[in-house]
Amino acid sequence: MVLGTYKEIVSARATDKQIQKVSQDGGIVTGLLAFALEEKIIEGAVVAGPTDEFWKPEPMVAMSADEIIAAAGTKYTFSPNVMMLKKAVRQYGIEKLGTVAIPCQTMGIRKMQSYPFGVRFLADKIKLLIGIYCMENFPYASLETFISEKMGISMELVEKMDIGKGKFWVYTQDEVLSIPLKETHGYEQSGCNVCLDYVAELGDVSTGSVGSPDGWSTVITRTDGGDSIFKQAVEAGAFETKDIANVKPGLDLLQKLSAQKKEKNQKTIDKRKEMGLPVPF
Ligand SMILES: Cc1cc2nc3c(=O)[nH]c(=O)nc-3n(C[C@H](O)[C@H](O)[C@H](O)COP(=O)(O)OP(=O)(O)OC[C@H]3O[C@@H](n4cnc5c(N)ncnc54)[C@H](O)[C@@H]3O)c2cc1C
Ligand code: SF4
Repeated sequence: MVLGTYKEIVSARATDKQIQKVSQDGGIVTGLLAFALEEKIIEGAVVAGPTDEFWKPEPMVAMSADEIIAAAGTKYTFSPNVMMLKKAVRQYGIEKLGTVAIPCQTMGIRKMQSYPFGVRFLADKIKLLIGIYCMENFPYASLETFISEKMGISMELVEKMDIGKGKFWVYTQDEVLSIPLKETHGYEQSGCNVCLDYVAELGDVSTGSVGSPDGWSTVITRTDGGDSIFKQAVEAGAFETKDIANVKPGLDLLQKLSAQKKEKNQKTIDKRKEMGLPVPF
């Protein structure tokens, strides 16, 4: 199945105006973590927090809605959120934990839960794992190169970055700049070329922008827990939803991109096997 196992797929956005303002797409990650915190489904969440370096995230344990909101928005470089889970439980004493993770990180978390060597105390404390779609990721130096050198704009002026419609976009207070995505090829992390998961197939809930209009997200509920938390949040008015069948570009595009990623990267895996090189799958 090209989108993994799921219960339901809808287009959705957070109703909270503050969340709409700071979030990347429909504010599903921020809205759902904040809702789960408020409802005491979780006691804290590991998110990709801001640092002194512009657009360089660092994993952070957020214990309040304000801290979750401060970490909203996509940073197109690594935030090793998985590393912080242990600390969240051991040092912050969190018994019910939420987190957000790109597909490879969700795989790591599920693996850790299935084979909890040295982390048995952590495996059952993750109550909400939100996966975000990911086509590829960039080392920080790559981001700096194509933003400051190719686009000619200093990182500190950037207010938002986005990938969509075949381009890498940068928004400043008064300008919108873009370069064709093909100009970013070669700058991605090489490990991404053997990655077969686009839509975070192992999340409790997965979300991303593709399939839904600007300002909205495509939300896939997958586990009983994830489906129930999302539905409670919709019922409480935290999100408005639309039937994915009625939105453009809709599921066809999501399926197409997921299939493309799997096919392209499977070829790289096959080639590596042929050459006798190690592959992760
Ligand atoms: C590297 C990368 C590539 C992506 N590629 C695609 C794509 O091809 N197609 C698509 O539809 N969506 C993609 N996304 C997801 C998309 O950009 C949004 O993150 C997603 O739609 C959630 O939006 P939101 O408004 O619900 O989240 P928000 O409410 O804005 O919250 C975003 C959450 O993600 C966390 N976060 C931000 N950056 C990172 C990071 N680098 N690693 C881990 N967590 C992070 C933040 O801490 C925050 O909690 C990508 C995200 C990343 C990080
Ligand atoms: S493409 Fe795969 S390996 Fe690369 S960052 Fe995204 S999820 Fe991780």
